[in-house]
Amino acid sequence: MEENFPEILKNSPLLKNMFDNATINGMQVMDTDGYILHVNEAFQHAFGYTSEDLHGKHCRVLFTQEDQKMLLPEMEIERVKQHGSAVDRNYLIHKDRSCVWASGESLLTEENGKTFIIKIVQNIHEQKVLEKFLKESQEFSENVVASINDGLIVLDTNFKILKLNNAFYNLFEINQQTIEGLHLSELNHSFLSSGKLKQQLENIIETGSFNSFQFDWKKDEDLYKTLNIKASFIDGKMVDKKVLLLVTDITDRVQAEQHRDDMISFVVHELRNPLANISLCNTLLEQAVNEGDKEGAEELLEKTRLNTARLQSLIAELYDATKAGSGNMQFSKSFFNFGEMVQQAIDAVQLANESHNIYKQGEANVDVYADSNRLHQVLTNYLVNAIKYSSQANKINVKLSMESGNIIVAITDYGKGISPEKIPYVFDRYYRADASVKIEGLGLGLFLCKQIIDAHNGRVWIESKLNEGSTFYFSIPL
Ligand code: ADP
Repeated sequence: MEENFPEILKNSPLLKNMFDNATINGMQVMDTDGYILHVNEAFQHAFGYTSEDLHGKHCRVLFTQEDQKMLLPEMEIERVKQHGSAVDRNYLIHKDRSCVWASGESLLTEENGKTFIIKIVQNIHEQKVLEKFLKESQEFSENVVASINDGLIVLDTNFKILKLNNAFYNLFEINQQTIEGLHLSELNHSFLSSGKLKQQLENIIETGSFNSFQFDWKKDEDLYKTLNIKASFIDGKMVDKKVLLLVTDITDRVQAEQHRDDMISFVVHELRNPLANISLCNTLLEQAVNEGDKEGAEELLEKTRLNTARLQSLIAELYDATKAGSGNMQFSKSFFNFGEMVQQAIDAVQLANESHNIYKQGEANVDVYADSNRLHQVLTNYLVNAIKYSSQANKINVKLSMESGNIIVAITDYGKGISPEKIPYVFDRYYRADASVKIEGLGLGLFLCKQIIDAHNGRVWIESKLNEGSTFYFSIPL
């Protein structure tokens, strides 16, 4: 331990001036074994200790316990002695026991044949905290960018690609390892090198504005996407100007909207027909009443009744379809005679349709536990369809049979039939095999039939030949 340490300061006015007057650079004078001789005011200001606090103590006391265990202070002294200087960045322990990030530079100094170590120390805690914060913020942003489902691309003002996320690669099916660092013009890509995108980007850069636009991207015959692109312009003082594009695939949404619009106009069209008929009948009815034409009035009333029933059944189908779609269709089961229920359905349909004769074959004189109204609805739907889609014929066959614990109902018509490729879809919601043919319907009846039969653990199926006719089946377990 050197007792005459002030000598070094006394003998060097330059060093003394620095030592006494420095405000940011803390200075610590040590002997060559690392024992502290003196610290200046700047050091006291940064780390809390006075010269008296540290005088004669080994510089180890300023290090954290972990660093002490790793012999960091001793290694530092050794480095200075070997190389004449050493630089280090680590925590120092403040007098209040908190850890303070410090940056130090130790120099070996000789004065009058005595060797000292002078360490210049700066409190860099705030920078370190800021650095850490920025690093964490950057990690956070990277994670956010990586985890969003939308494609993201950042470009400089020369359209060089600075950053992309995985979603972007997936969205545009880019298989290349990376396209970061390339210019848009270097790519052969139907979106990235398109004239429309270039024009939009130029506009954004020119006006510095935020922009949102839609892009129909077609890769090939099979891949077609509607994209919504939100562009923003990043223009900071510290960072270069950049354009950020957030690309959202809205294909499904656009298609769903389109489908919904089509459905609404289709439903409106179907409802309008019977309503227009009712309105016309009412006008004619007024005339007939005024003219005392009782027979004519009765005929018109019957037409109104039929059209009202048609409207009611369309609305009921729509209502049931929404319930069935959400799995909320109501069923009320009880025991009843299956054969009698079939006969009632046949009678009702026969009464309303003189154009066709309905013939029944076989019996099903058994009691079943099921929803009688709903099964009546299935039979009616099959029968009405059989009539509706066989205007050229005049008979319908209903066959009842029982096989391996199931009742099977088959309804055969001799009408237009269904082409084989369309058969798998006939029970789908809103499906109409031949939408161009002007026959009223919402494409919901068979969908509902299937929901009802499914709810009875049964099965529906079809056999059909185009222009020859169809047989619609359903079976339910006994
Ligand atoms: P809708 O008759 O209201 O269109 P459905 O769900 O009852 O709806 O029938 C769906 C489609 O199945 C019909 O549009 C029609 O193309 C076809 N289809 C149903 N029954 C028959 C049948 N007996 N003969 C030929 N095609 C039929």
